Amino acid sequence: MNRLIACAALVALVSSAELAADPVVPRAQVDAIYPDIEKLYMDLHRNPELAFHEQRTAAELAQRVKALGFEVTTGVGGTGVVAILKNGAGPTVMLRTELDALPMQEKTGLPFASTATTRNDAGDVVPVAHMCGHDLHMSAWVGTAELMVRNKMQWHGTLMLVGQPAEEIVSGASAMLKDGLFTRFPKPDYALGVHDEPSLPAGVIGFRAGAFRAASNSVEVTVYGKGGHGAYPHTTVDPVVLAARIVLGLQTIVSRENNPLEPAVVTVGSIHGGTVSNIIPDQVKLQLTVRSFDAALQKRLIGAIARQARGEAIAANAPKEPTVEVKNGTDPVINDAQLTQRMVAAARAELGVDNVVEMPAQMGGEDFSQFGLNGVRAVLLHVGAVDAAKLEAARKAGESLPGVHSPLWAPEREPTLKAAIGAETAILLDLMKA
Ligand SMILES: [Zn+2]
Ligand SMILES: [Zn+2]
Repeated sequence: MNRLIACAALVALVSSAELAADPVVPRAQVDAIYPDIEKLYMDLHRNPELAFHEQRTAAELAQRVKALGFEVTTGVGGTGVVAILKNGAGPTVMLRTELDALPMQEKTGLPFASTATTRNDAGDVVPVAHMCGHDLHMSAWVGTAELMVRNKMQWHGTLMLVGQPAEEIVSGASAMLKDGLFTRFPKPDYALGVHDEPSLPAGVIGFRAGAFRAASNSVEVTVYGKGGHGAYPHTTVDPVVLAARIVLGLQTIVSRENNPLEPAVVTVGSIHGGTVSNIIPDQVKLQLTVRSFDAALQKRLIGAIARQARGEAIAANAPKEPTVEVKNGTDPVINDAQLTQRMVAAARAELGVDNVVEMPAQMGGEDFSQFGLNGVRAVLLHVGAVDAAKLEAARKAGESLPGVHSPLWAPEREPTLKAAIGAETAILLDLMKA
């Protein structure tokens, strides 16, 4: 008895808020499909694949939605999947999941943890694991497809399910667009994506209207000097000292050149030059990540990096200007404000008002941005995936728990999947109301 009371108290403490009393999608429907969805989740988790190599993953998803009656096209933008279900006149609404996993070793110790290895594009054998939760997004995507088919009488329009490859290298969305995602298939009126979130309790949806995820670019700077013996520095131009000056100078871009009210990051994540202690090399390579929430600011930051590198090279009497190479990046995710409010209302009707909360923007990039940039009203939501009591204990202790891209990332699968499926289905039903 005592134990029961203690349990009840704990449950009261843990469940942060009441679920909606009369949800749009009956909870029994979500519960009924859950065991099968969980099996799919574990299967996808055990069988992760790297960006643009998601053949097995794509085939599994394609077969699932084909069985539900969707018209399925595979191989869109590499390994992408497009599944269309036409249900009379009405809006076209897109739900996107990512397909890819990360080249890293899982250390969760879960019974269904990934032990997979694969060859990366350089030909090296690397571990591979779903440490960003894309397996969770895929499973929810299939669950939502099932409930949309089951509730077909309640909506009209065209449901467009998109399985996007290579999100982790922010290339898959543009690959699909280049391959005719919005021309060979109906161009959606609305698009929705849902990503798992380590800062929110499992089952709680996080939203943010406007700028939500940052623009991101990798920038490679190579500085040139004149090599020679370390004992005779006066006969050389030392690119190590030059690179060190550049690294320090770059810190002033955000702190001195940028408006403090506009968030920006310039990080030098890698610096490589030289071989041994007594040889001054003739070049040093720096690798940077540059992030902000605005395309124009992003351009200014990259311009400032090039200018500072050039200036320092002149000051050091370098024999050659530095080369600055901007690698493919991604644009900021800007959530359509009106559509965000509409989706929030639909998710709240399903999950309860307190289980759908505003959250801060994040500096992590996401190529979901490409759908909005191509003229679709798009919103990316997050779904909390951490046990509420653990999250609260960590907050009180001032500690941080493992998040996405950690080898220990282990979403609380049942409440997270159920909330994602409930919210996605409720939102799609609202946008395509019969
Ligand atoms: Zn990721
Ligand atoms: Zn991700």
